[in-house]
Amino acid sequence: MSFDDFHSGRELKATRKPHACEQCGRNIETGSPAYYAAGKYDGHFYTQYEHVECRAAGMAYAEETGLWGEDFTWFQHADSDMLADFGPWLLEHHPIVAERLNIEREEDEVEA
Ligand SMILES: [Zn+2]
Repeated sequence: MSFDDFHSGRELKATRKPHACEQCGRNIETGSPAYYAAGKYDGHFYTQYEHVECRAAGMAYAEETGLWGEDFTWFQHADSDMLADFGPWLLEHHPIVAERLNIEREEDEVEA
């Protein structure tokens, strides 16, 4: 997989302070394992933290859909159409992440 600019990440055994997870938006508790990444994208430096489960789900979903780079799916920022696509998939394959995003098995149609 190739990214523009640069991107590097690694797994932390334990965070030293709380961080919001980039995928689900929830807090990663101090002392929890987390995925940490830093890089430069489109001229902007960034750092991000993710729960290891959220990271795994995000990567698996990109693998499944071929949506990488700027099309990469950030679950917490998805609109209802996107949610309709990945919601059932997350429930089936990554239930921990689905729960963090408050995705429930029986979704009513959401009118925008
Ligand atoms: Zn998360």
